[in-house]
Amino acid sequence: ELILAFETSCDETSVAVVENGEHILSNFVATQIKSHQRFGGVVPEVASRHHIEEITIGIRKALTEADVTPEELTAVAVTYGPGLVGSLLIGVTAAKTFAFAHHLPLVPVNHMAGHIYAARYVEPLTFPSLGLLVSGGHTQIVLMKAAGEFEIIGDTRDDAAGEAFDKVGRVLGIPYPAGKEIDRLAHEGHDTFNFPRAMIHEANYDFSFSGLKSAFINTVHNADQRGEQLDRADLAASFQASVVDVLVTKVLSALERYQVKQLVLAGGVAANHGLRDALKTKMTRFAPQTKLVAAPLALCGDNAAMIGAAAHIAYAKGDRADMSLNADPSLEFPWLTGVEA
Ligand code: ATP
Ligand code: MG
Ligand code: FE
Repeated sequence: ELILAFETSCDETSVAVVENGEHILSNFVATQIKSHQRFGGVVPEVASRHHIEEITIGIRKALTEADVTPEELTAVAVTYGPGLVGSLLIGVTAAKTFAFAHHLPLVPVNHMAGHIYAARYVEPLTFPSLGLLVSGGHTQIVLMKAAGEFEIIGDTRDDAAGEAFDKVGRVLGIPYPAGKEIDRLAHEGHDTFNFPRAMIHEANYDFSFSGLKSAFINTVHNADQRGEQLDRADLAASFQASVVDVLVTKVLSALERYQVKQLVLAGGVAANHGLRDALKTKMTRFAPQTKLVAAPLALCGDNAAMIGAAAHIAYAKGDRADMSLNADPSLEFPWLTGVEA
């Protein structure tokens, strides 16, 4: 089985060819970061224009690199939400056109399910499992009872974890997206500021990061007013320690309650070394019953290979879209459409 997968939900144009949901034959990713940096974040209109320019190049490169012809493909898969509507529409339109032209079935994929399935490239997902989904727009703990059966048991009440990294980065003068650079800086510093850990002891799996963001901004601002220069590495380390502490504490308490086979760590923020290391250490407590499966570093950010892996499951379950498929910017779980999980 060969699936041609499309991902254009935000600022990466990506097209991949995936075999049986487990082998990446090609994974073309064109990132637009440079174009958005001067605005300090993603500008939707600019993103859509880039997707239009890159998508046909992406299709050609993905097929060429995989050495696969359209006739050899089994299906076409596409992210139809959540994300920016104008960006999603380019991928959806390209996928529908390709599927129609080559008489191929079309498989609709939820972007967040895609993030989870990036972990599939480390080892097969087994169920029941818990997912810690941390990205630019989401911070969720997901209970996965079976393949395709996703239920959100915890969510952020305000900012997403990645969003907090990016906003704090702005204060430190780090260009968008700031997560990777804060991660690097944090490695050189210490948690000297002891920022708040919101909701950490509450008996739920929800998060809040806006208070942390405000505390960080106030700390830097007050020091500025006193003409004082704070240590950037310590600021980064303190911020990251707070985020990691809350994420890890909450997910461990979810693991106490739900006996699962795997904890899947996925999403752009899953690339964070502080988070990966802390989870790895703390998870030894649940071994060998529960195994940590972190998405590969290179596949934490947006890419079509993860969409191809999720599509493999959706395809097997008979999930199909027709030419009326539309983008759904606020698409939520459950992710399979029109089929019983
Ligand atoms: P969503 O997936 O919720 O729709 P998105 O697709 O924009 O949002 P992703 O591409 O999954 O988000 O992740 C991007 C986010 O990951 C950015 O906020 C970025 O700063 C963050 N990020 C990337 N690398 C790291 C890192 N090493 N540490 C912390 N955050 C990181
Ligand atoms: Mg991105
Ligand atoms: Fe994403």
